[in-house]
Amino acid sequence: MSVQEQKLARLTAAGRFDLCSPGECMRLLSAAASINYSRRAGGCGRMLKVLLHGTCSYDCAYCSVRLQRERLAFTPEELAGTFLALWREGLVGGLFLSSGIAGDVDIAMHDIVETGEILRRRGYDGYLHLKILPGSTRADIRDAARVADRISINLEATSPDRLGCVAGVKDYRQDILKRQAWVAEEKPGGHTTQIVVGAADETDAEILSCLADQYRRVRPSRVYFSAFRALAGTPLASHPDTPAWRARRWYQADYLLRDYAVTADELRAALGEGGFFANRDPKEVLFEDRGPVDVNLAPRSDLLRVPGIGPKGADRILALRRVRPFSGPADLARAGIRGRAAGRHLTFGGEKTVQTRLAF
Ligand code: SF4
Repeated sequence: MSVQEQKLARLTAAGRFDLCSPGECMRLLSAAASINYSRRAGGCGRMLKVLLHGTCSYDCAYCSVRLQRERLAFTPEELAGTFLALWREGLVGGLFLSSGIAGDVDIAMHDIVETGEILRRRGYDGYLHLKILPGSTRADIRDAARVADRISINLEATSPDRLGCVAGVKDYRQDILKRQAWVAEEKPGGHTTQIVVGAADETDAEILSCLADQYRRVRPSRVYFSAFRALAGTPLASHPDTPAWRARRWYQADYLLRDYAVTADELRAALGEGGFFANRDPKEVLFEDRGPVDVNLAPRSDLLRVPGIGPKGADRILALRRVRPFSGPADLARAGIRGRAAGRHLTFGGEKTVQTRLAF
């Protein structure tokens, strides 16, 4: 392996904890060397995710980059050249670029933007996602928004107090929320954020309040939820890991807010004791006690609230029933509604569906 490839492998491994993607894929990048990683086929597997600077002077207690003592960094020229070589070989299909903050945040952010500008000048027209660092200038955010398909700034925690527990150097209001408002103005509909679930011992009720505020104020196109994993050598090394299901439940809850017209107040009813979700689909929890929905008469909004029916399924039902009313469970399968959850909540012209008759 050449020196450049070794550096790429290490800075790719260091950057694996951020979530993002074109295609809204949530798979974490492999810690494997980028060359091996990029040989995987399709989807996120073709996106190179890498740090420009592999050291950081900030103190985020959950992060491994802060432990890195060896100064490991690409110049914008080096990274752009290395990426373009991989891209021209067809080994990678997109770039997610972030960075540790080795000293001055303006230098690190400027280098991120410059890398994007070099890539565009040299003809790269593929997917480019640039991370906005906390405390970045408005001018850098504007330039990043111009050059990238997507930009993102991570909340990491749900409030100033919670962030203070795990990343004391960052000022939640100034460094993150204020910058995120600029991000939203410069790249409306093209920005995302991430929350590290469980790192700061927040409840799900707090995450819900934070999300409601996000969708009201800055409208991120996606919020990513990363289940906290304790890393050896960090101050949170002995903090319990967040179970993967908790982040999964958050993706489900987030879909309800974004795509199912469920309000934050409604979703609060799915929280259990202490303000936490149980390990169950929040949609099932919310709607299990509702009366049955008539598949031939219900408006789209009611169909959407049936567990097992998503926006596409509801639209297919509406289209099919205009041609011929649904007469039984087999029609559901033809509409692409699979699984047993929907059957428990549907009637066909007044008759309660018998779940065991579903032909899935
Ligand atoms: S700012 Fe925090 S999370 Fe980001 S690289 Fe530095 S220590 Fe890690």
